[in-house]
Amino acid sequence: MRKLTKHESPAKRADELFRQQQNEIYVKTDQLFAKLMFVQWIACVVMAIIISPYTWSGQAKAIHEHVWAAIFLGGAISVFPIWMTRAWPGAAITRHVIAVAQMLMSALLISVTGGRIETHFHVFGSLVILSFYRDWRVLIPATIVVGLDHFIRGVYFPYSVYGVLTASPWRSIEHAAWVVFEDVFLVISCLRSIREMRSIANRTAALELSEQNFRQIFQEAPIGMAVVALDEKFAQANAKLCQMVGYSEQELTDRTPIDITHPDDVAFSRNLAREMLKSASHNRIEKRYLRKDGATVWGARTGSLIRDESGNPRHFVIMIEDISEHKKAQQAVRDSEERYRLLFETNPYPVWVYDPKTLCFLAVNQAAIDCYGFSREEFLSMNIKDIRPAEDLNALLDDVAQSSPETTRWRHRKKNGTIIDVEITARPISFSGKSARLVLVNDITERLHNETDLKQAKKEAERANKAKSEFLSRMSHELRTPLNAILGFGQLLERQNPTPTQRGRLGHIISAGRHLLGLINEVLDISRIEVGRMQLSLEPVSVVETIQETLDLMRPLAAERKIQLVANVDLDATVHVHADRQRFKQVLLNVLTNGVKYTPIGGSVTVSSATSGNDTVRVRVADTGPGIAQEKLARLFTPFDRLGAEQSNVEGTGLGLALSQRLIQAMGGGIGVEKSGSSGSIFWIELPRTKSPLEQTRPRKTRERKHHRGVEAERRTILYIEDNLSNLTLVEQILEERPEIELITAMQGQVGLDLARQHVPDLILLDLHLPDLPGWEVLSQLKANETTSGIPVIVISADATTRQVKRLMKTGATSYLTKPLDVTEFFRVLDQTAASTNGASKPSIAPTDLATIDSNL
Ligand code: ADP
Repeated sequence: MRKLTKHESPAKRADELFRQQQNEIYVKTDQLFAKLMFVQWIACVVMAIIISPYTWSGQAKAIHEHVWAAIFLGGAISVFPIWMTRAWPGAAITRHVIAVAQMLMSALLISVTGGRIETHFHVFGSLVILSFYRDWRVLIPATIVVGLDHFIRGVYFPYSVYGVLTASPWRSIEHAAWVVFEDVFLVISCLRSIREMRSIANRTAALELSEQNFRQIFQEAPIGMAVVALDEKFAQANAKLCQMVGYSEQELTDRTPIDITHPDDVAFSRNLAREMLKSASHNRIEKRYLRKDGATVWGARTGSLIRDESGNPRHFVIMIEDISEHKKAQQAVRDSEERYRLLFETNPYPVWVYDPKTLCFLAVNQAAIDCYGFSREEFLSMNIKDIRPAEDLNALLDDVAQSSPETTRWRHRKKNGTIIDVEITARPISFSGKSARLVLVNDITERLHNETDLKQAKKEAERANKAKSEFLSRMSHELRTPLNAILGFGQLLERQNPTPTQRGRLGHIISAGRHLLGLINEVLDISRIEVGRMQLSLEPVSVVETIQETLDLMRPLAAERKIQLVANVDLDATVHVHADRQRFKQVLLNVLTNGVKYTPIGGSVTVSSATSGNDTVRVRVADTGPGIAQEKLARLFTPFDRLGAEQSNVEGTGLGLALSQRLIQAMGGGIGVEKSGSSGSIFWIELPRTKSPLEQTRPRKTRERKHHRGVEAERRTILYIEDNLSNLTLVEQILEERPEIELITAMQGQVGLDLARQHVPDLILLDLHLPDLPGWEVLSQLKANETTSGIPVIVISADATTRQVKRLMKTGATSYLTKPLDVTEFFRVLDQTAASTNGASKPSIAPTDLATIDSNL
């Protein structure tokens, strides 16, 4: 069947179908007439020969003219239209020529039969046959030819028409009237036929359209569709199905659906097809198909059995939806569900799901059942209030309402009535399509008990430790007094010309006493650090200066042991660390002393330093000593552990490194061994780097100078008691702006006191951490002495706790400045102190108020 083109209207197609049909009828009727005319011609000749073969003129006979007429005239009438049916089949001119020829043939037959009235029926018959064309127009020339023939021959040859010699002219009219009478009905019949043909054409066009639509739907359907014949082979398959199974439609028509079914699904697919034939008209299944390339495709197949009007099966229609992706997703969901189920069920912690509206348990895991003692059925018939002590219920309801994601602590009640402490973590989830909460429970009863025990034990340990430290501290203090006497009197005796034996014995007493004093001092320091009583004065300390000073102190011992001291310091003097100067020196001294002590005579100890990154400075001390065995390194910083050195004749307490480590750590640094072996050891000390005090104040200098211009110059003397060279330099440089001020410096407390008495300066600047005396001691002595009591003292210290400030102000300090120095503040305090001593001699309260000091910390 021809397809409707996209834009062709059904009416046009109906017209085309109608014309086709009409043309077919024309052609077929033309052919009918071609045969009829040939037969008529032969029949006409035969009739002419039978009826009157001869004509007589007396005795003479001749072939009757009718015979010649039948042969030649009949031939002339027939041959041309027959030829036309070949040349122009179906053409209008052909049918009109045939109509005229047919009527002429009727006239010839009537004439040949001598006007026999029966032969007139040929006319009526011919008209009927002409109406086979269903074209009423062909009746017009036929009728005209019949009418004219009857009229002309009725007038001139009545015998040849009516078989009588005379005939009334009305007879021709009567004959014509009968012909017209028949024409009327034939025309009606033609018109009806045409109408029917049109209606059939319209219906056919509509049918074609509908079928075409269906075919298009079938072919372009997004799911696989097929028609399966009763022999089970595919009759038709659409593009989607072909694409799904990888076969062409042609290949499918040689196969049955079973041929492309996965072997595992063949049996039940067969049963379903049989069932469909027996009873059900359709069914739907999910099954696997095997693609041509061997891959498996999951399809949702809906099959229907189509029956004819009498209920006999005609074929199957199947629709297959590719659900492979859906199946994969389903499998993934199943796997994930399984995983979560496993996680839930095998979780060692109790886990449950509850409904936040009803508070009922919706699911519980085995751990919950084991922990609480309720069976699963019991749990599922309870709500979460049932496992709480009554007094917790209000808090529980608040918590459920808030649905906090935080882990919270609760008490739960087990089936046997035991109350346990738990940590609960709840999360909102969707459970069976409803909102629910998933709860994870951690039984912390035991942990809480352990924590309490641990806290108790820790408290005990801390108390014991404190007691130990305090005991050590007290003991050390107590031991110092008799030691003072031992060392003091020992030294006195040494001066009173003892005998050589006595001198030797005194030497032992004094050296043992010193050893004991060192030991006591170190124990005291360690215990101070451990109880948090060690006071550190953290300030910028020049690394180069400290190393230099320490090396100076080491030289006598090194010389004694013939050890070469090498300084390999790659730093400039501006590199500072944030440290307590004395303690840093102490640590360095300790490491250097060890190097010198443990290195055999003739060896060397090298000190080097470098910045490590921007943040720290590392000092390394390398010796050529025996090194420390690898397995002993872990014990290096343990108090009193000398790692076997006690068997040697090297003196020591086993406390030096332990104390050094604690001190360095308290200053925010570190200490360790880089390498230790037969070629010697390398110790390192690291401290946080800081800006030098000069660097910190430099940007402000210009401003300070301008500020000073207005102040009237007057000669003054200032004594600065400070052991830190950087700080001394700093103050010296700051005071360069005040040429009227003369600066005297002392690096020890005692020297400071002497200078104060000697020079009676206008002002004393006092650092608190001095090598010999504590700063407050110097201050009290200054205040106690008549000569110096009136001199204002400004304390400059890194230690600025409120307690310390209050204590020093109480002792008699005029002001308290914190390090690093604020130059403006320094000058302000300096000027204010000068003004107050010139005017009213009453010492002013520290200009730096305590709150500021505290906030500076
Ligand atoms: P001591 O007072 O015994 O020197 P320290 O705490 O300073 O105590 O050192 C602990 C131990 O570490 C020493 O007894 C010694 O065995 C070992 N030690 C320390 N420094 C060195 C070194 N430079 N070379 C070899 N051994 C060392």
